[in-house]
Amino acid sequence: MGDKNQKTKKIRENRSKWEKMGKIGANGRKYEKMGESRSKWENIGENRVKWENIEVNGGKWENSGKNRDEPLVIGPLGTSDLVCLSCYSPILEEDFFKCPDCFWPMCSMSCALDESHAVECSWLEEDKTHCGAPTCLGETPRYDLIFILRCLILKERNPKAWRIMFEMASHGNRLKESNEPHQVAAVRYFKDICKMHIGEDEIHHIRGVVLANAIEIRSKMGTIIKVLYPTVRFLNHSCIPNVHLTSTPEGHMEMRAAIDINKGDELAISYTGTDSPVWERQSCLVENHFFTCMCKRCRDPTELGSYFSSPRCPICPSVIMHYFVQEENITWRCSKCHSESSVDEIIQEIHDWTFRLEMNDLFGTGSPSKISHALAVIEQRFHIKHYMWLRASQKALQKLQYNNSFSALKLKRYIWEKINDIFDYIEPGITRRKGKSILL
Ligand SMILES: [Zn+2]
Ligand SMILES: [Zn+2]
Ligand SMILES: [Zn+2]
Ligand SMILES: [Zn+2]
Repeated sequence: MGDKNQKTKKIRENRSKWEKMGKIGANGRKYEKMGESRSKWENIGENRVKWENIEVNGGKWENSGKNRDEPLVIGPLGTSDLVCLSCYSPILEEDFFKCPDCFWPMCSMSCALDESHAVECSWLEEDKTHCGAPTCLGETPRYDLIFILRCLILKERNPKAWRIMFEMASHGNRLKESNEPHQVAAVRYFKDICKMHIGEDEIHHIRGVVLANAIEIRSKMGTIIKVLYPTVRFLNHSCIPNVHLTSTPEGHMEMRAAIDINKGDELAISYTGTDSPVWERQSCLVENHFFTCMCKRCRDPTELGSYFSSPRCPICPSVIMHYFVQEENITWRCSKCHSESSVDEIIQEIHDWTFRLEMNDLFGTGSPSKISHALAVIEQRFHIKHYMWLRASQKALQKLQYNNSFSALKLKRYIWEKINDIFDYIEPGITRRKGKSILL
């Protein structure tokens, strides 16, 4: 029960942040936020990538330099379990090795001596009391300092990269004004402890750039790290993206067209993932990117005919409810009996079902017949293109992973086809995420 309560609490917290920061509302704030969302493109102006120059060949760009982006800065996630600062391997031993100069956890002496760590190490050494370095295993927000430091170092060492980075969109002012604790800590750390000759506003700006633009990728060691790219940052967000990103082990980013893209079309990736319901996508965007999405999927209460976030009406089960936005609240309504469900009720119900899934309550022994029955029950309450059905069917594939009996294979084939149908609505084209969601 503890888990469930915590999850519900987390969703509520996220949602209330969304409320505080502005969400899809039928009042003035909506349009302010819309403007903000659009202005990302407008601000880019002449720097905007000339998509007209990119060759589209059978729906996929040529795998040439134009479509590859090389990293400006690579580093650990801001909040991360302990990882080596050079090779990003996870650090799992209680008495882990530390760099003898800066005291940050590293996997070995050879990584501590690696050239990639040398410059940052000389700045971290200024922290005489080692107040910045993590001291024990477990997740810590202190890695935020490492990525920011790697960016700040560029000012002297690579002025061209610094300029590119400095021109990127930043939430620095907003973070500065809100006195966000990690923002304040970073500025104090580099100014007062490392005594870097750099303006406070520059640190505010750069941390804002990192939060707005860095992209997570998987390192060679399998850990998640983040990277700042010069071109990928121009890609806008859409909950129905036409461009997909794939990183290479070297940290390069390949941008691929998922569908045929005409000259002049807006290119968009998804900052949130496409397979979450509308309230999760919006709260993630507001929390991390400070805008409310008004893409064509979010504007359409049927989500382009998928009804992905909309359940059946509890009174007339043949009718799938539509959502609409009124006085800053999303509400679902039945077109037949006009009964309504609030976002709180919908989230609570999804949580109850998710909890049952996680607790193994629905699939029981995991036999194909038990799983089929459970999926049919979920389909009766939601429907076959609903988020909850997608989650349950992915869980079912995991359960059936090693079962190759005839009935299991038949069920897996059915699930794969249905998942494919869902993705045709929410993420058309050939994409990695689509493939992964089937392989789960
Ligand atoms: Zn290492
Ligand atoms: Zn060091
Ligand atoms: Zn959207
Ligand atoms: Zn109804």
